[in-house]
Amino acid sequence: METFNLFIDNSSTPPSSGGYFDTENPYTGEHWARVANATADDVDRAVRAAHRAMSERSWRAAPVQRAALLRKLGDLVKANVDKLAAAEVRDNGKTIGEMRTQMRNTAEWYYYYGGLADKIEGRVLPTENPDLFNFTLYEPIGVVAAILPWNSPLRLLSWKVAPALAAGNALVVKPSRFTSTSTLIFAELVKEAGFPPGLFNVVTGTGSETGSLLMAHPLVAKVAFTGGETAGQKVYEAASKDIKHASLELGGKAANIIFEDADFDNAVRGAVTGIFTSAGQSCTAGSRILVQRSIHDRFVEAFAALGRKGRMGDPMDPATEIGPIATRPQYEWILKSIESAKAEGARLHSGGKPVQIGGGAGLFIEPTVFVDVDNKMRLAQEEIFGPVAAVIAFDTEEQAIQIANDTRFGLTGGVWTRDIARAHRVVAAVDAGTIWVNFYRQTSQLSPYGGFKHSGIGKEGGSQVIYDYVREKSVWFNLAPQVRSPFAG
Ligand code: NAD
Repeated sequence: METFNLFIDNSSTPPSSGGYFDTENPYTGEHWARVANATADDVDRAVRAAHRAMSERSWRAAPVQRAALLRKLGDLVKANVDKLAAAEVRDNGKTIGEMRTQMRNTAEWYYYYGGLADKIEGRVLPTENPDLFNFTLYEPIGVVAAILPWNSPLRLLSWKVAPALAAGNALVVKPSRFTSTSTLIFAELVKEAGFPPGLFNVVTGTGSETGSLLMAHPLVAKVAFTGGETAGQKVYEAASKDIKHASLELGGKAANIIFEDADFDNAVRGAVTGIFTSAGQSCTAGSRILVQRSIHDRFVEAFAALGRKGRMGDPMDPATEIGPIATRPQYEWILKSIESAKAEGARLHSGGKPVQIGGGAGLFIEPTVFVDVDNKMRLAQEEIFGPVAAVIAFDTEEQAIQIANDTRFGLTGGVWTRDIARAHRVVAAVDAGTIWVNFYRQTSQLSPYGGFKHSGIGKEGGSQVIYDYVREKSVWFNLAPQVRSPFAG
């Protein structure tokens, strides 16, 4: 069994308690590694290391060097795509093809934000008095706690690490306890790139213990969180106690809206991409498929048939298209959600059963399609985070918009139509942070991503995000030889 320690001050550090937890491969069922369980002392050490490192002038005031280090880190991620991708697959069971693609793109985030590190420019502002001179400085915020889920660990980590380091901050990262090892392997690349000790630290453990300790630490100035709504609410509440900055990337229940005039085959492909790739374990999942009634029955047949073609198997086999569910609790939650959907009156069209593949843990679930779904059902309101599609019929454009927005989430959405004017109307009316027209599921370092409503606060990606990792200081100079009388009015 391999052992993974904490990463503090550029060193692999055993936990002060000596405690470890196991990590399980969801395909083989093998408990293949043990990972350090961070205590309060460990979290404190990591945060103090980060605070010391980001307080150094040689880091804060060295944008050109920061840019160079980020480019080097991008190169190292690129050179280690296979190693990093395999580490992700071993922990979360996503397919090796998807993970290699993710890792190649992850490198681009370091190049992109490396490119911005030396372009964070303050402002000189006009004043009402010619004797006054006013300008602003952008300073790093401080220690950033990055708290991550298990579904795409290094990709989502990099959405935070790249802009945070570019802007001169330091980080303490808390990965999901189910998928900690890839982050610890990545930490060695940060060190190899030449980042000074303390700028990037990793504490591993559960959310309720290690995560809470991190949130309670007074030297943490900002939390960048990705995860579920419930944990997000707890993190936001903890941040508010200490007036910490917070960005939250939470769950979704996206509506993928298919009009009768859409290119039928493309829409079928897009609907399957939305919910069955990654076994539906994606915040972007198009889990509510809204189909215009005139094409509903034909669409459901084609959609379910294409979903069934997804080849399930060993996620390390490049031919596999759908891997296992990432964790046992998640697997049990999906099966429970399927039963509850049946109980509330949705009709199971196809799928719905667990599948045994490979003789290991076998955490597979068939691509599942429910029809006759009422948008008020839990099936249509709660995020399942699995291969479960809720198909809802609609008659008019207005009705489709109303159903799409009848959710507390607002992360992503899809629109399929050949009518350009309708596409624009629906895009404008749907309350979601990202909408794809005539395709589904695209994110990029070049474009902002982040949800509305209960799907979160803030964005990741795009150039504006760099300003979420700085604080603006307004500086006033008096140029007059004499300061005016305090009682001048
Ligand atoms: P989760 O909310 O259970 O856990 C996320 C992280 O928060 C973990 O590291 C966990 O240990 C930590 N955590 C939990 N409670 C905490 C607390 N009280 N204090 C501090 N940290 C705490 O989520 P998950 O099951 O790992 O991931 C799936 C969820 O993530 C889904 O809801 C999905 O939609 C969401 N997600 C969102 C995005 C996005 O960009 N919007 C991307 C991927 C996943």
